[in-house]
Amino acid sequence: MGLSSIKKKHENLIGLGDGIKGIVNNRNFCYMNAFMQCLAPIEPLRDYYLTQVYAQFKEMSTKRHSFDFVNSLYMFYKGMYRLKDPIIDLINLKDAVTKKFHPIQQHDSHEFMIYLLSSLQEEETPQDSYFNGSNERQSLQTIIDQYYSAHPSIIDKVFTGIQKTIVICGKCTQKSITYNPFMTLSLEFDASLEKSMMRFLSDDQLSSSEQYRCDKCKKPSKAKIQTELSKLPDVLTFHLKRFTYPIPKKIKGKCKYPPHLNMAEFCPEASEIDDSLKYELFGVTVHLGSLEMGHYIAYTKRFDSWYLFNDEHHHKVTESEALNQEVYLLFYRRMNQSV
Ligand SMILES: [Zn+2]
Repeated sequence: MGLSSIKKKHENLIGLGDGIKGIVNNRNFCYMNAFMQCLAPIEPLRDYYLTQVYAQFKEMSTKRHSFDFVNSLYMFYKGMYRLKDPIIDLINLKDAVTKKFHPIQQHDSHEFMIYLLSSLQEEETPQDSYFNGSNERQSLQTIIDQYYSAHPSIIDKVFTGIQKTIVICGKCTQKSITYNPFMTLSLEFDASLEKSMMRFLSDDQLSSSEQYRCDKCKKPSKAKIQTELSKLPDVLTFHLKRFTYPIPKKIKGKCKYPPHLNMAEFCPEASEIDDSLKYELFGVTVHLGSLEMGHYIAYTKRFDSWYLFNDEHHHKVTESEALNQEVYLLFYRRMNQSV
């Protein structure tokens, strides 16, 4: 649906600029700018919004009277790739998020990312869309097909993967399986991305109380919870939990992350579903300073070179600079991707 209309309207994509520009920060918008610089090079998103094929969703959207987020993405890509100005201002986007992200305050870039992607997804998802990931009689492929046909948004197509949660009864070890969509993987901070991933996938977490009641033995127990990744998205994003709660603190220090990542070793089930589980790093956001006085910047890869984006300013950097930061968010794209 979306892709054929993109091809038809291909003339709209001729003569685009390189999209290497600064973004105005007239208040505390670095959290927004750093994330948007990581969205800028995602071509399927750029082409989708620039060709305005999303107009089809207006009729069936859950939010019939507002298309503010989708429109602000169109304005963003237009500013980045079509206009001549060397620096753009995200006026529409700031307006769209103002209810949740007050312009005077500092905000968390990961929270912003989730809010923006969920709002776009909501505007582009049909009103009656339905998904049940806990029907254990269905095959994984059927569950995946059902999710994506009920959620046809470009956001789901690019960012959403499917994870499997296995809950094991503490009394009789009966397993119950549920599949759920995910848009980002939030990992405990560790010395390397690999170690953080291993912790995410191998730690058996216990439910916090003895409230779990299994279907088979009907007895309350402390259940064991395991997570597996069953289908990976084309753009895989990682969030390192540097900010701790309830006592607010920032974990400083480096977590090593590779320029290329083979996810096959982490997710055997997804290896059978996805054609390729090889990923390439193309975006990194960094939080500088402390919790109280912080600043976000982004490194993104454009045409085989890395650039540093710091609000209005940008310049080319070496790959080793981009790979040696105290990262907060990481953006990987599937190699040989088909979208
Ligand atoms: Zn049980």
